[in-house]
Amino acid sequence: MAELDRLEFGKSDFVLLDEVTMEQFMQNLKLRFEKGRIYTFIGEVVVSVNPYAEMDIYGKETVEAYRGRELYENPPHLYSVADAAYKAMKRRAKDTCIVISGESGAGKTEASKYIMQYIAAITNPGQRAEVESVKNVLLKSNCVLEAFGNAKTNRNNNSSRFGKYMDINFNFNGDPTGGHINNYLLEKSRVVQQQEGERNFHSFYQLLRGGSEEMLQSLFLQRDPSAYVYTREGASSTTSNDDRSAHKAVLSALKVISFQPQEIDTIYRILGTILHLGNLDFASDGESVQVTEPRAVENIATLTGTTAADVSKALLFRTVATGGGEVIEKGHSEQEVTYGRDAFSKALYERLFSWIVGRINAVIEVKDYNPVLHGKNTVIGVLDIYGFEIFDNNSFEQFCINYCNEKLQQLFIELILQQEQEEYDREGIPWQHIDYFNNQIIVDLVEQPHRGIISILDEACLGVGKVTDIMFLDSMDTKLGQHPHYTSRKLSPTDKSLEFQRHFRIRHYAGDVTYSVEGFLDKNKDPLFQDFKRLMFNSNNPVLSEMWPEGQLGITEVTKRPLTAATLFKNSIVALVDKLACKEPYYVRCIKPNEVKSPMLFDDARCSHQVAYLGLLENVRVRRAGFAYRQPYSRFLQRYKMTCEYTWPNHLMDSDRDAVEAIVKQHGFQDDVEYGHTKLFVRTPRSLFTLEQERAALI
Ligand code: ADP
Ligand code: MG
Repeated sequence: MAELDRLEFGKSDFVLLDEVTMEQFMQNLKLRFEKGRIYTFIGEVVVSVNPYAEMDIYGKETVEAYRGRELYENPPHLYSVADAAYKAMKRRAKDTCIVISGESGAGKTEASKYIMQYIAAITNPGQRAEVESVKNVLLKSNCVLEAFGNAKTNRNNNSSRFGKYMDINFNFNGDPTGGHINNYLLEKSRVVQQQEGERNFHSFYQLLRGGSEEMLQSLFLQRDPSAYVYTREGASSTTSNDDRSAHKAVLSALKVISFQPQEIDTIYRILGTILHLGNLDFASDGESVQVTEPRAVENIATLTGTTAADVSKALLFRTVATGGGEVIEKGHSEQEVTYGRDAFSKALYERLFSWIVGRINAVIEVKDYNPVLHGKNTVIGVLDIYGFEIFDNNSFEQFCINYCNEKLQQLFIELILQQEQEEYDREGIPWQHIDYFNNQIIVDLVEQPHRGIISILDEACLGVGKVTDIMFLDSMDTKLGQHPHYTSRKLSPTDKSLEFQRHFRIRHYAGDVTYSVEGFLDKNKDPLFQDFKRLMFNSNNPVLSEMWPEGQLGITEVTKRPLTAATLFKNSIVALVDKLACKEPYYVRCIKPNEVKSPMLFDDARCSHQVAYLGLLENVRVRRAGFAYRQPYSRFLQRYKMTCEYTWPNHLMDSDRDAVEAIVKQHGFQDDVEYGHTKLFVRTPRSLFTLEQERAALI
């Protein structure tokens, strides 16, 4: 408590800044970071700056200090938010969610793990075995998901390459009874290609470096990651992840989660298959294409429970139905073979990942819950999802991710405003209008039926004949030419930063992003030849076959076009937002202090950029627009009673409220406050500073 307000650590709540300017915000953020205060509030929101160093602030004593306390009783911390969410869930039977956002490397995943650990630490005091086992599976699932969904990138050695939303269910005792994980948009292109200095997903290196001799032999693999095209780029890069020990941990976690031996075996067979696929070479004699290494094809057949002949056929030919219903085989060109092979590898991995998530869900799903017997089943959701991305070259993936952030921002603004409104209602205070930028217009630009970018993209993908990325751009220019948040070179010819026939730009709430249309159509269609699906469905390995149910369709039955990648993503994000919207939200906004993973460096430009696009100033403004500051009467008294003769050392008035009124009047800011049922609301921070100064002079 004392530390909370010590000025040398800066202001523990941005709401208390003298003025809401970028300059003051940054000054406070930097000062706190340099003093090792990595967390700061904006009201109930926690802003976190990645310390890039181990901090002694997550131990048992800290857990005890935050457990069951009110937000304002302790310095800002992830535990403040975790406990607030937990209390809302337990005391008021409210479903809550904790939304963690920020760019890659900002500390989202670490934050989500600390939050889960906190919840694990404060629940099940009676150590009941079934609850412990649920907790164990929930915590262990992180290790598995990180192995298969994380990779070393140039920004983060352990970067999550998927979005994750995890619901934890609680019984009436407030103990976890189960959960559910949703995964979003795995970056599967990484399976076949990585940028310079980056790695494929951890799982491959863990297998190659940590797998037993027998395991590698049974998968026909060598130990060296540089022997495989798909893992070559990352083969020599050193990381803090010890692949060998991680492999052991993953195997043991899989067992704890109760994956069956055949399932574990299949997981590694699929990884082996992908590595062998990447090493296939093809040669064309001008007429037809051949695989140059039949040995690798045989290995793939063995690992996937198929035959070498079928594998070759799926790679080299496409079975199609003619108009007359006749089924013919068409040979691929060399280019098509390579394209198909990579698409197959990516799809295998993506299926594997989703299947793993599904298997974990089957284990942690709440079973036999009877609300009559067991009371209301409440939920805390934790969202750890990619933040806004602005790269030098932005493509389809950034477009999807940034759209997702627009949706989350909109929800954020709506919910924060709604929360404010609800608090005013509860306290019986008249509602004040708050001015803010509503980004609905950008959300519409992307997702509106018929006119939005996703619709235009889908339409282009449905087009007959050769529709190109450039034609898609033309179509957007025609349909969106008037839109205030859309532009391209054709529409603003003087803007030399946009290239003709390549770029379009969206003015996002977080700033302008220029996207290149190259590859949009292909990534959106995300085609995988049907032959691969049939090959996998017909595998004699039941686990593998189960991952490919649509392979059972006959050749002539496959007429319906699958949904496009953008539409699937949009649907999943709309469902996510619906889920979040009916919960009481808590927010953690993560900031990455520098690009070099240094605990010392606070890069002003990089940080203020993030503060801007996370909309933090806006957040402070919304929070202050009505009332900058609010506090229960008793607490206000406790802090300021010494500044007024009528309240020191104790007041003799009818209520704490009256005593507070006496303090306010004595300091002459009665026009700056409203009296709620239980709290004092102060409009401008200035009034408080006067009080604070006086208090400081007295102690
Ligand atoms: P994100 O999920 O936002 O991409 P991570 O949570 O993976 O980022 O964090 C990146 C790295 O930063 C971690 O691997 C860790 O080294 C460091 N880090 C993040 N948060 C903390 C923290 N609270 N304490 C110490 N180190 C941290
Ligand atoms: Mg992460």
